[in-house]
Amino acid sequence: MVTTTSQVADLARAIAGDRAEVGSLMGEGVDPHTYKLTRSDVARIAGADIVLYSGLHLEGKITDALTRIAGSGKPVHAVAEAIPSDLLLTPAGFDGNPDPHVWMDVKLWTRALDAALEALVAFDPAGADHYRANAAGLAERFGRLDAYARSALASIPEQTRVLVTAHDAFNYLGRAYGLEVRGIQGISTESEAGLREIEALVDLLVSRRIAAVFVETSVSERNIRALIEGAAARGHRVEIGGALYSDAMGAPGTHEGTYVGMIDHNVTTIARALGGDPPSGGFEGRLTAASADVGEK
Ligand SMILES: [Zn+2]
Repeated sequence: MVTTTSQVADLARAIAGDRAEVGSLMGEGVDPHTYKLTRSDVARIAGADIVLYSGLHLEGKITDALTRIAGSGKPVHAVAEAIPSDLLLTPAGFDGNPDPHVWMDVKLWTRALDAALEALVAFDPAGADHYRANAAGLAERFGRLDAYARSALASIPEQTRVLVTAHDAFNYLGRAYGLEVRGIQGISTESEAGLREIEALVDLLVSRRIAAVFVETSVSERNIRALIEGAAARGHRVEIGGALYSDAMGAPGTHEGTYVGMIDHNVTTIARALGGDPPSGGFEGRLTAASADVGEK
């Protein structure tokens, strides 16, 4: 079986267990929006019995190829496209398309889990009991993770429950767990409009006493500095609250290299930086202080 993103691979491995080999085209730190198929990817897809991908145009550059392969009769399934459309968000900046970052809401991703399960059962009915038992265990863990995310983020004082971030990947997290999400990506400090947007964000940080913004290395330093310096000039200290995992997960073999670990890291990092009181080990006690501070994309 071949999957596109590591989030989908994580689902597939958990459901398949030892009954199938799962390979993922995209590894750690890979941007799914711009990913293009390599020659060896094409060979891996051709050799796979079944292909699972996320969908909703997340894999923008390879969606057409995947759709074509599906048309040739190979089982190819977009697991996130099983989510009812009335549960999807269509924020500005996505050209009228649904926001594909559905894994940020654990309940929505549980529906993707169901879709991956049904795809596997349809392909290999003899393994149905095995797949269903594995999926039920994972769904139960997702249920506990969802509850953890809710309580960790609810520990943030209400007035500072605002996620100022460089990603456009956190809309579902915000909706599911009651965080206001504000973006700093795409704002140009070289235009009047951009300067006004920065100024409005500084106002928000100062007036709501928000202690942290969230970034990653690829983001314009200038915008971050403008926010931090703008707030400092008005006597309010803002820190960089840490890096969050958005589209990719952490390194394979680490807690953050799993779906549960990436959500755990994000939620715990956000809660801690914004004045909440999450448990120091995060969900299930597997998060280390170091991992909460120095995550990569
Ligand atoms: Zn993205």
